[in-house]
Amino acid sequence: MIYLRYRLVVMVFLFMGFQLLLQAQKPVFKVVPLGVKGGLDESNLSAYLIAVNGTSRYIALDAGTIDAGIQKAIQKKLWKGTTSTAVLQDSIKGYCISHGHLDHVAGLIINAPNDSKKNIYAMPYCLQVLEQNYFTWQSWANFGDAGTLPFLNKYHYVPLATGREVPLEGTDMMVTPFVLSHGSNYKSTAFLVRYQSGYLLYLGDTGADTIEHSHDLLQLWQCIAPLVQQKKLKAIFIEVSYPNEQPENQLFGHLTPKLLLDEMHVLVNLTGINAVQGLPIVITHMKPSGNNEAIIQRQLLQNNALQLQFIFAQQAVPLFF
Ligand SMILES: [Zn+2]
Ligand SMILES: [Zn+2]
Repeated sequence: MIYLRYRLVVMVFLFMGFQLLLQAQKPVFKVVPLGVKGGLDESNLSAYLIAVNGTSRYIALDAGTIDAGIQKAIQKKLWKGTTSTAVLQDSIKGYCISHGHLDHVAGLIINAPNDSKKNIYAMPYCLQVLEQNYFTWQSWANFGDAGTLPFLNKYHYVPLATGREVPLEGTDMMVTPFVLSHGSNYKSTAFLVRYQSGYLLYLGDTGADTIEHSHDLLQLWQCIAPLVQQKKLKAIFIEVSYPNEQPENQLFGHLTPKLLLDEMHVLVNLTGINAVQGLPIVITHMKPSGNNEAIIQRQLLQNNALQLQFIFAQQAVPLFF
């Protein structure tokens, strides 16, 4: 009898342990790329929907392509029995915009008349571009709540401050922004998204610290290093726009495979090599001219001494982290 009871207790403990293991392995985030390229193809420009896995309350990280990406996702049955307008209005709860370049905002601007009321989260230097260059009544109607009068008040601008976490309304996620250098005198933004103790880092366009004469990436790596060590950071989305052959004076604030790997070495110096092995690094923003995309992929995979897990995002192919 005592033996039986002992066996029962062991089984209950084993079952609980198994449940905990399942819980630990369950992805925290679901990401649906609506657009992944760094130019040329207007139907496939930087935009990544992120949600807590198992929910459909998304935030768009950049908004280069919106409608064409949603339509493709519907074709692929990522959403069933719905329209792209319904997904735009109901499933996208807000936008985090890294910088004001057209390949990161065109989808947001062009779809604004069809959109529902929501927040745009961005650093002041990025909101300024929306206010002063796009939602001006000259380029487009003013769908915002600042800038040129009258305001249509569809979008509420939420100005962010470096390193300060704010809630992403309509979701259970939080976001912390960091400044990035994107060419001379131009700033972009990285977004650290959090749900409970899980994190995902998305970087808008950025150059390397060495080329930009900046410490912005170093400061970002210093902030996230403890999260990498504790395995709380589930993925890094980062750009590689050009192959290694791109001349240094024609990088325009972007990365090559070599420059990305140099930056990853800076991170490794802070975390130790074991912490980054297998870390998913999602490559974004490849400029699709000639064979560039294949060359970039080869140059990353052939020089992967750090054993990072490179993922090449594809439009409307969901990712789980
Ligand atoms: Zn870009
Ligand atoms: Zn840019």
